[in-house]
Amino acid sequence: MTVAEQADRTPAATVPVRTRTVIIGSGFSGLGMAIELQRRGVDFVILEKADEIGGTWRDNTYPGCACDIPSHMYSFSFEPKPDWTHMWSFQPEIQDYLLGVTEKYGLRRYIRFGAHVDRAQWDDAEQRWHVFTTGGDEFVAQFVVSGAGGLHIPLIPEFEGLDDYLAAGNAAFHSAQWDHDVAIAGKRVAVIGTGASAIQIVPEIVGDVAELYLYQRTPAWVMPRPNNPIPERMQQVFANVPGTRPAMRAAIYWLHEAVGFAMTQQPRLLKLGELAGKWNIRRSVKDPQLRRKLTPDYRAGCKRILNSDTYYRGVADPKTEVVTEHIMRFTPRGIVTADAQGHETERAVDVVVFATGFHVTDSYTYVDIKGPGGEDLVDRWNREGIEALRGITVAGMPNLFFLLGPNTALGHNSVVFMIESQIRYAAQAIAAVDRAGAQALTPTRAAQDRYNAELQRQLAPTVWSTGGCHSWYLDEHGVNRTLWSGMTWQYWLATRRFKASEYSFC
Ligand code: NAP
Repeated sequence: MTVAEQADRTPAATVPVRTRTVIIGSGFSGLGMAIELQRRGVDFVILEKADEIGGTWRDNTYPGCACDIPSHMYSFSFEPKPDWTHMWSFQPEIQDYLLGVTEKYGLRRYIRFGAHVDRAQWDDAEQRWHVFTTGGDEFVAQFVVSGAGGLHIPLIPEFEGLDDYLAAGNAAFHSAQWDHDVAIAGKRVAVIGTGASAIQIVPEIVGDVAELYLYQRTPAWVMPRPNNPIPERMQQVFANVPGTRPAMRAAIYWLHEAVGFAMTQQPRLLKLGELAGKWNIRRSVKDPQLRRKLTPDYRAGCKRILNSDTYYRGVADPKTEVVTEHIMRFTPRGIVTADAQGHETERAVDVVVFATGFHVTDSYTYVDIKGPGGEDLVDRWNREGIEALRGITVAGMPNLFFLLGPNTALGHNSVVFMIESQIRYAAQAIAAVDRAGAQALTPTRAAQDRYNAELQRQLAPTVWSTGGCHSWYLDEHGVNRTLWSGMTWQYWLATRRFKASEYSFC
């Protein structure tokens, strides 16, 4: 009986569901892993905390939400879509793409929606993972693959007085939890943060609101980017002329790799990008004081490089005020800031959008994972820093795989490329367990340590460590636990063949 059939017959929260593989999450990672396991005939169930697939592209529905990597590259290599309507697609089209993939591969029947995993425990005697959801359901599996990613737990900073502000009848929400029931037209709106999400929101809402206060702690480098629709004729060419779509994908890939080369090998080259970023400010912003406020003082690429042709126009709109003073507290009326001399200003605000990012380097703490002997992975990672072998498997944690795990996010190219490399690697590892007639595999500590020592050595000269900024790529000790250290083709090479010699089997 397959898990899907078993799930149909098993009442929730009574009998544990047994499967070979639990996949956590149904975004690009979880869906891609499911397709690969399906292809290989390995049984699996997908546990999804929400009530729909899509991950990031389900959650982020804020106005203007789009991908900052071109869609011909930000999509599965095995599921090309010739008719992307924009070079950088908007959220609804990407979510539609994922819905289409889900239907095509019949994945919905394997998914348990509303299944929020909060605990996984390895049973030494049984050599199986027991995975628990907050709803009390239990799943027993030989393998666990986390496709949860690192950008799904909204971070709302703790501001004094926020409760009083909300109690007074005002609205506030995170960019990834946009409340579409709150009307912003004609309202005084505050956007806190100037990262990837904020720069897409600002130009989209400025026309509707009465006033827009943009609270900027650190300006971002924002490069020019025309995102015109791809003409239908061109879409037809991609669909019908052999080689054109792959050629477009390859061109996008290598262009982005060139930026990756500068970021990892020659950060000085990024000065060229800074010239483009400064031009982008100059062409939309006439006020020299505002231009200065918007110009970063760190090397481009140190924080994620953003792209927009419309952001600075939105910022220069007479309705927008860029507030760079420190946020002190919320009041029932709005937000109080203080300048360098301690002089306080209160601005009345009806709606607050927290475009303040996500829990990234601590996102793993939200699932309690206990390995053999009850070893607590969260404790270990809190003590030693988040480390894995090739960002996927973890010493001492059998049959556990992370997609977009430690040091495998990117600052320059499509993470879908990384995810596909990891899926292939994890599937090879599962096959290796079977081939060895074993129950489990674990990377050796020596292999993991060697790998991470080299990774950190390569990260040292990159723009993320030397660029003069503090980003969420770094943990609280300033160590980059987030990004891959080189070009993505190097990661592809590093994961292309599963190396059994780096593992112990039992
Ligand atoms: P983010 O890049 O982490 O930006 C958060 C912003 O909030 C920063 O400007 C940060 O300032 C500010 N902030 C945080 N805490 C604050 C506080 N206490 N007071 C004032 N400001 C505060 O978050 P994001 O914009 O949501 O983007 C996160 C990531 O999601 C991106 O880097 C990207 O990987 C992904 N994303 C991708 C796309 C896409 O197009 N593919 C779109 C959106 C998001 P500091 O810089 O000073 O910390």
